[in-house]
Amino acid sequence: MFVQIVNRLLVLIVPASVLLAASLLLPKIAGMAPERHELLFLAPYLITALGMFLSVHFHRGRPFMALLLLVFFYWVSRHSLIGRSLELSLNELYQAFVLLIPVNIALITIMRERGILSPAGRLRFLFLAVQMFVAFWFFKYNFIAFLPVLAINFGLPAFMTPDLVPQPAMLAGCIAYIVVAGLTIYRQTPIDAGLLGALTAFYVACNWITNPDTHAAFSTAGALILTLSVLRDSYNLAFRDDMTNLRSRRSLNESLSGLGRRYAIAMLDVDHFKKFNDTYGHDTGDQVLKMVARKIAGVGCGGKAFRYGGEEFTILFPGRCAKDVIPELENIRKEIAEYRLALRDVERPKSGKEGKARRGATREAPYVSVTISIGVAERAEGLATPEEVIKAADTLLYKAKNRGRNQVCG
Ligand code: GH3
Ligand code: MG
Ligand code: MG
Repeated sequence: MFVQIVNRLLVLIVPASVLLAASLLLPKIAGMAPERHELLFLAPYLITALGMFLSVHFHRGRPFMALLLLVFFYWVSRHSLIGRSLELSLNELYQAFVLLIPVNIALITIMRERGILSPAGRLRFLFLAVQMFVAFWFFKYNFIAFLPVLAINFGLPAFMTPDLVPQPAMLAGCIAYIVVAGLTIYRQTPIDAGLLGALTAFYVACNWITNPDTHAAFSTAGALILTLSVLRDSYNLAFRDDMTNLRSRRSLNESLSGLGRRYAIAMLDVDHFKKFNDTYGHDTGDQVLKMVARKIAGVGCGGKAFRYGGEEFTILFPGRCAKDVIPELENIRKEIAEYRLALRDVERPKSGKEGKARRGATREAPYVSVTISIGVAERAEGLATPEEVIKAADTLLYKAKNRGRNQVCG
């Protein structure tokens, strides 16, 4: 359980490290020569340009939009907000940004990726532009009407109520933050994590906007986090399996070349899966594969899980021998065999009629389950290369199949 929680938080390592680095560099920035300061103030533009270039290259509309929003905020704040710090809490522009950017980042996180210049992508840019126009017009000419709203006090605790950000914006921001963080932990994608990191950096930049160094450093950090997330996402495209979110076969081939002198390799295969697909349908089959992948991903003993292809998986155990890892593989085998996948959730009938016709059948079998067979081999004399160890594990896997399946052979 603990391992699974930690695994789900790993996606946050890059954004968290960049934010930490920005905080640690702040005291150094304060002592920098003036010409270097000028460079720092340009850094958000440079990094944003790089991130936008990569987003265009990889057809990633979501980080592109977030970068655009944040650089717009940076540009406006450098030119019209900083230096007017005393009036900031009453500045229309500031109030509009502090409310709208988090809400838009949450919307971007919820949206599905649809590219940049596709019809859907263009529609999104139009939505952003119209929204900004309406919002600024509203804030500009009806700001007085907003003042009582900005003054609302929700009784938020002191640490959540910085001087500048009014409580309604803080509350909207908290909801946006929960949405983005929840989706990041659930979906585990680098771009969601990037959006979460950029939102955090935005808040820091906003709260310390009266300090130009902090503002520039965290605006740079936000742009860098999004840029890195695009890179990480493109890496995943090549090295992750989309459906199960496990590492792909290509990634396995890379990992095989870096193994030391001692390692074990397990090959896993779902039993009678062709028949399972024929009986319950391909979609239910996919749900089962995702469930199996989730169980395998949480493997202990330092194991790294891969989707070898189809319904076959591989686990590498660097620095371990077969004997060490068999109990762990037994646990996984048992967990999968005992797991009950509720059929109704995954095969909800589309029409009432179909539902009625099927209800009888689902009452008899509301759950499905599968078993897996596992073969595990280690590097030894006569098995000098990883390819040979994989072959040996495969042979043992078929031994497990022949012995009646749902077992580990080592
Ligand atoms: P055995 O116990 O001997 O392994 O029998 P099996 O039926 O599992 O063996 P076989 O390798 O012949 O069948 C694998 C099946 O897995 C065939 C294919 O329909 C199914 N399959 C492969 N990839 C996927 C996938 O991504 N989704 C689904 N739903 N099914 C898949
Ligand atoms: Mg197979
Ligand atoms: Mg099979």
